[in-house]
Amino acid sequence: MRLLLIEDDLMISEGLTTALRQSGYAVDAVADVQTAKLSLTNEKYDLIILDLGLPDGSGLDILKKLRSHHDPVPVLIVTAKDTLKDVVAGLDSGADDYMIKPFELEELEARIRVLLRRSEGRASPVLTLGNIQLNPATHGFSIDGRQIILSAREFAIIYALMENPNSVLSRQQIEEKIYGWNEEVESNAIEYHISQLRKKIGRDIIRNIRGVGYVLEKKA
Ligand code: CA
Repeated sequence: MRLLLIEDDLMISEGLTTALRQSGYAVDAVADVQTAKLSLTNEKYDLIILDLGLPDGSGLDILKKLRSHHDPVPVLIVTAKDTLKDVVAGLDSGADDYMIKPFELEELEARIRVLLRRSEGRASPVLTLGNIQLNPATHGFSIDGRQIILSAREFAIIYALMENPNSVLSRQQIEEKIYGWNEEVESNAIEYHISQLRKKIGRDIIRNIRGVGYVLEKKA
């Protein structure tokens, strides 16, 4: 899951980036309208966290531009602007949710999960594929009810594959889902994490299509 964080308060931005990465999200952080628009042109995001008061303009302009291009990406506004008028204007400009600073990290992460669940068209908070279950809220992963402990990266990879069952994701597509810009990625990192995953969950669940990528296959 790749998130764009648009926030000019460095303390909040760094704190959120660290916390969300620990939760297994890839996070790109930008601090102004111009850089945000550039990032949105160049990358594909699963969700945007949007501050409104930015040094070179309003976050609402970013939001309005996205929606005028029919971009359905979930947008969560996180702002100090707390009047009823601000909240209504944010939602009516196309935001999917609105949080007022200061906020609790736990609640922000829960709202992120809600927005991702809705954008994936899931009713249940738990992802199920055959005998495999994944719970984004608890980072729980189980096969036939047997819990398996995964690292944040392993969890992020299996989540990306479960989101797209029976379709092949290339190494690059997986990298884009799990690494932000300024994170060092070793050239064989994905292969390494997948080999670790296979040791934990079994060899036959993630299939490697030579030269193409990886696919999670539904088993009865
Ligand atoms: Ca601000």
